[in-house]
This record gives sequence, structure tokens and C-alpha cells, in this order.
Amino acid sequence: MKKWSKLSKILTLGVTVLMAASIFAGCGDEKKSADSGKSSNVAEDVAAIKKRGVLRVGVKNVTKGFGYQDPATGKFSGLEVDLSEALAKKLGVDVEYTPVTAATRTALLDSGDIDMVAATFTITPERKNSWDFTTPYYTDHVGVLVEKASGLKSLADLKGKVVGVSSGSTSAKALVKAMIDAKIIDGEGFDSKTFDAATWNKGVSFKQYADYPAISTALTSGEVQAFCVDKSILAIYCTDDRTFLKEQFAPQEYGLATKKGSGMSKVAEEAVQGWLKDGTIKKLEAKYGLDK
Ligand code: GLU
Repeated sequence: MKKWSKLSKILTLGVTVLMAASIFAGCGDEKKSADSGKSSNVAEDVAAIKKRGVLRVGVKNVTKGFGYQDPATGKFSGLEVDLSEALAKKLGVDVEYTPVTAATRTALLDSGDIDMVAATFTITPERKNSWDFTTPYYTDHVGVLVEKASGLKSLADLKGKVVGVSSGSTSAKALVKAMIDAKIIDGEGFDSKTFDAATWNKGVSFKQYADYPAISTALTSGEVQAFCVDKSILAIYCTDDRTFLKEQFAPQEYGLATKKGSGMSKVAEEAVQGWLKDGTIKKLEAKYGLDK
């Protein structure tokens, strides 16, 4: 069964698919105030989801292996989709997926349009001030994709270049930190807490985009010379005429995110703990080729 969500229409984010759990039982503004994602009542949110009969989850729709929506069928697949579906099953409700980006996921969680984010969402100390994260279920690394014709091979070659990143992502800060650690740039003026991709221009600079397809287009047109984000996200854009720089860096631990102090935080954490113990996560990694 397919239905258009009000939200998707408003944000023109694409379709939201509602699937019966029994059949196919699935910016982030870093500078939020400490309680921006707080749930109004700890116990009531889970009761409300059960009453509604639907768990609403924000997932990626262009990240194969994690959250991907088949354009032909509208069907979502990926490890994060399966985890969301399993969580809905645990609660005895259906699951509804809303496509999110790094730039939209936290606003949708804060507004209550979704109950949970399962979208390659890296756990960081800053983000933990605003939202609850489960124990990590997967660790990726940040990588850099370039056109083969550019001749760029390593981080050192990025000096003076413009790099495309997603708004609301950890990517720009991770790249600058990696270049400083490798002594490619000196790090003067770098402060992890106040870093801003929009204004950083020492040794490398950034253009921020609303989504990944836009960065891929910008890489082709030469508007940016490199595309930086988690390697799992980059995989789909690594076409024959492109290659990764040799370095990968900044481990990215993915957690399910929920409103701070909410009942859903507890439910999600217990579920992830269970899946890590009983081998569910390992099985899903193998199913989606994420264990290589
Ligand atoms: N995982 C990184 C982050 O949470 C990259 C952005 C993304 O998930 O799209 O910032």
C-alpha cells in the first residue's frame, strides 16, 4: 500500500511508503539548544505511536545498503530500513518511511513529523546534546571522491581546492581535521566546536548542498573538485570515470536518533542492544554487502 505523506508533499522529498508490518514488516542544525529535541512526555510517546498504529521513520532514499528507494517500485531497502521495520514489529505497529537528508532529518524529528531517524546519522558529542542516540550499529569512514581526469590522488592534492559537502553533515570538519592531522594544512584557526564549513577557507574550502545528487552534478560540472562524505554514501556515485582519494578517515558511528528523553529512546536502545547480541546486525551487514 502506498500513500503520499503530507510532509513529502510540503518538502517535495518524494514518496512515503506505508507498508503493513505483517507483510513487509521502515539541517541537522548542529547548533541547536540543548533541549531542542525533547519529547513532551517520556512514557506517552510510545503509547501514542501504538495508538496511531504507525512508527514513522526518517530514512535515506539514495544510500544503497542503508536506505534506498527503488525509483521503479517505490520500495525501500537497506539495513536501516530493515531495522526500522523490525522495531515497528516489536511495537506491533506498521512502519512509514519518510526520505530525509542530512539537512532535513533533525528538523523533522524535532517537529514530531517522524518518531526516529535511521539515516546514516553519525553520533557526535554535539549532537548528543540535542538528541538521543542508540549504541552504534555500524561504523563507516569519511572518504573523498574525485574525477579521474582531475589527477587528484591524495588529501595533499586537495590544497586550494573546493570540496562539495552536504549541509548538516560532519564531512567538512572531518576533512579539515584529517588534513591538519596529516600536516597538509597548519590548523591555525581550527576549533572543533565552532567550525563552520561555510566560512572555512584555509587550505581548502567548501560548497554546501542540500543533497548528494546535487554534489555529484557539481563534481561533473567542475563547480567543485571533490565530493566528501561517508564512503557508504559515496559508493553509488563512484562511476567508472571517478575514483576515491587513497585516504579514508574520521570513523563515523551510526546510531538511531530519537527525541531526547523520550520513551522511543529507550525502546530503540533496547532493540539495538538486542540486535547486536543476537547477530541480527551482522546478518544484515552480510545481506547488504556492508561487511566487506
Ligand atoms: N553520516 C554523516 C553525518 O551524519 C554524513 C551525512 C549523512 O549522513 O548524510 O553527518
